[in-house]
Amino acid sequence: MKKLLIACAAAFATTGAFAYPEKTVTIVVPFAAGGPTDKVARDFAEAVRKPLGNATIVIDNVAGAGGTLGAAKVAKAAPDGYTLLLTHVSMATSPALYRNLQFKPLDDFEFAGLVNEVPMTLVGRPTLAANSYAELVTWINANKGKINIANAGLGSASHLCGMLFQSVLKADMTPVPYKGTAPAMNDLLGGQVDIMCDQTTNTTGQIEGGKIKAYAVTTTKRLAIPSLSKLPTLDEAGLKGFNVTIWHGVYAPKGTPKAVIDKVNAALKVALKDPGFIKNQESLGAVIVTDARSNPADHKKFVSDEINKWSPIIKANGQYAD
Ligand code: ASP
Repeated sequence: MKKLLIACAAAFATTGAFAYPEKTVTIVVPFAAGGPTDKVARDFAEAVRKPLGNATIVIDNVAGAGGTLGAAKVAKAAPDGYTLLLTHVSMATSPALYRNLQFKPLDDFEFAGLVNEVPMTLVGRPTLAANSYAELVTWINANKGKINIANAGLGSASHLCGMLFQSVLKADMTPVPYKGTAPAMNDLLGGQVDIMCDQTTNTTGQIEGGKIKAYAVTTTKRLAIPSLSKLPTLDEAGLKGFNVTIWHGVYAPKGTPKAVIDKVNAALKVALKDPGFIKNQESLGAVIVTDARSNPADHKKFVSDEINKWSPIIKANGQYAD
C-alpha cells in the first residue's frame, strides 16, 4: 500500500496530473425538479459524466426566491469543485431585483462556461377561450384585474418575461410565484393559473401534446422546430423589439482552484459537442453555445454585459424584493 502511494505521488510529481473528481460532484439547480433548468442540468450532468472520468454527479434542487437561494448556497460552499451551480439569467437579473442579495454574481463565483440559450413561449391554461395571440390580447383587455400569471419568483426567467409582457401591454396581472415552472406548469394544466412565459425546454412537450394553449415565442426569430414554427414572435405580433432569450451557465464558488475549473470547462466543451446532448436540447428549442462564451473569461464578460443590460430595464419597471 505504502509503495502504491509513493508510486502515485511520483506519477503526480512527474505528470502534474490533478486528481479531480475523486468523489461525488453535486450540481445545485436553484429551481424545482422536473422544470426547464432542471432538465438542462440533468442532460448536462449526463453529458459531462464521462469526460469527468465517469464521475458520479447528483443534482440538488435548492429552489426558491427566483433562483437566488440555490445560488447563495453555492456561493458559500467549499471552493473545492464538488459543489457547482447550473443556473440561468437569474444571475444577471437578481442584482437589480433584490435589495439584500446574499451573493455578488461577479465576485463570489468562478465561471466555468455558458451551455445554451433557450427561447421562451407565452402559454395559457387549456380552458382559456383565446386560441391565437390576437384573441389573447382581446381576452386580456376584457378581463383586466382578473388575470393571474405564474412565475418562478422574482428574478426568474418567467418573471422577467411576464414583467416585460405586462409592461408593454400596460396590463397588470396578479403574479403567482412558484419554486420553479414545473409546479407552475401543473397548475396551468389544472387551470389554477391563466398564463405563463416559460422556456421551450418545459413547454414543447405540452404544446406538442395539445395540453396547453401556445400563443407566441419571445425571440425575434420564429423557432426552427416544426411543432413550434407556426407560433408568431411577439415582435411580429405587434410588440416591436420584444426579445427574451434565456441562457444557462455553470459556476463554482470563488476560490475553486483553476485546475478544477479547467477540468470542468474541458468537460463542458466535450458536452457541447456531444451529439446526444445536442439532439436532446435542440429538440426542445435550445441552442447549444458554439462561440467563445463557453470559455470562463468570456462567460464572465457576458454575464457582466447581461447585468448591465437588464438592470435599467428592471429598475424602470420598479420591481424590488428584500
Ligand atoms: N423556468 C423557470 C424560470 O422561470 C425556472 C425553472 O423552473 O427552471 O426561471
